[in-house]
Amino acid sequence: MLIGRKLPITSLTNLQEIPPSSQIIQAVQKIKSRYECFRCGNQDQHFFATHYCAKCSSHCTYCRKCIVMGKMSTCTMLAINETDMKFEDSLSGLVWNGKLSPQQKEASLKVVEAVHRNHDLLLWAVCGAGKTEMLFEGIEAALQQGKFVCITTPRVDVVLELANRFRQAFPTVSIAVLYGGSGEEWNRNRLTICTVHQLMKFRHMFHLLIIDEVDAFPYNIEKHLHWVASEARTETGSTIQLTATPSSDQQQLALKGKIHNVMVPARYHRQPLPVPSFEWVGNWRKAIHKKQKLPNQLEKWLKKFLQDNCPIFLFTPTIKDCVFIEEAVKKVTTNSASVHSQDPLRHEKVSAFRKGDIQVLITTTILERGVTIPNSQIAVLGADEEIFTESALVQISGRAGRQLEYANGEVILFHNGISEEMVRAKKQILLMNHLGYEKGWLDEK
Ligand SMILES: [Zn+2]
Ligand SMILES: [Zn+2]
Repeated sequence: MLIGRKLPITSLTNLQEIPPSSQIIQAVQKIKSRYECFRCGNQDQHFFATHYCAKCSSHCTYCRKCIVMGKMSTCTMLAINETDMKFEDSLSGLVWNGKLSPQQKEASLKVVEAVHRNHDLLLWAVCGAGKTEMLFEGIEAALQQGKFVCITTPRVDVVLELANRFRQAFPTVSIAVLYGGSGEEWNRNRLTICTVHQLMKFRHMFHLLIIDEVDAFPYNIEKHLHWVASEARTETGSTIQLTATPSSDQQQLALKGKIHNVMVPARYHRQPLPVPSFEWVGNWRKAIHKKQKLPNQLEKWLKKFLQDNCPIFLFTPTIKDCVFIEEAVKKVTTNSASVHSQDPLRHEKVSAFRKGDIQVLITTTILERGVTIPNSQIAVLGADEEIFTESALVQISGRAGRQLEYANGEVILFHNGISEEMVRAKKQILLMNHLGYEKGWLDEK
């Protein structure tokens, strides 16, 4: 039985029933001559526009930042649920009976503890550590306490993948899966899996809020989304942030023990992370544009792995480079293709790469996470350029060596001068391996 009534935040025009516990507020407010949007947290004045409003027959200011979710203006009212409601009945839904590795178990216990004690937690787990399974027991504990649980992430493909995993692990629990265009409505579901943008629909709703891939775009850049996330959680509760690549501030706080955190420096298969090597190739762009020729070192490296029949990821800084480099790679092997965010065939190409129909995939950072290909070898051309941040390079390196059978993938960063971010990425990977050995979670070489 549900105690009290719980509704998502909603604009009053669409609301038939306003729960007595709710607070009514103006969606866009002018505070000390500056506008603020109380749905999406936007305070950037560039994203406000004023127009003559037919609804209220006067001049209204609306927020452009969150307009895709429906217009919020100075004449829109929001009903915000203020009471902290729980289900009375405890719910046991977990049927997953896989086995956690010792490192996963340690993290899982920390998650359960955070749920019981209502504190926040940073879960810093390397790429390929098996993060999802570490959440199951904590979520089960929260559901048993009658809590509302939400798992959110910046990326739609991750939402879909998580939805799959959780439907299997919690088959009897009602799960809402929300993203732009999903067409699903929230209906007091015990478990919600959604994009970070969808959190704008909720206020003080989730007792346990898990944010996966906190370092991914746009959550890493758009500060108003941090406000949205903190508003979606109940006042007492726990927010668990999951990442393989925390910001340097978070890393420092975690390493000094200043925030609740748990580190999982080792992959489930007990092999260390492949460490990137650096190789200078000078002004490669000029050579490729002039003669459609790859740097010698890269060509040699490609040929080595082509011969061994390995799938190869070749990361490039921009879409324009991606296309030029494809031409140059074609001279080495025709068994290649390029993908980027604007490519209408990107899904088809990635799936051909998965199947082994394409051997070299030239890509921008869109494939820095999420895609796992056994035995893949990784090269980055122009690794010193701005787009390749520490976090991007750690994620990219994390594509290699994920399966036990192929735990020794190679990662090579071709550059025209080593960047600070390259050094930091390598340092972070070495640190993780060091901690993994120290904990006894990696097999000795
Ligand atoms: Zn807004
Ligand atoms: Zn108006």
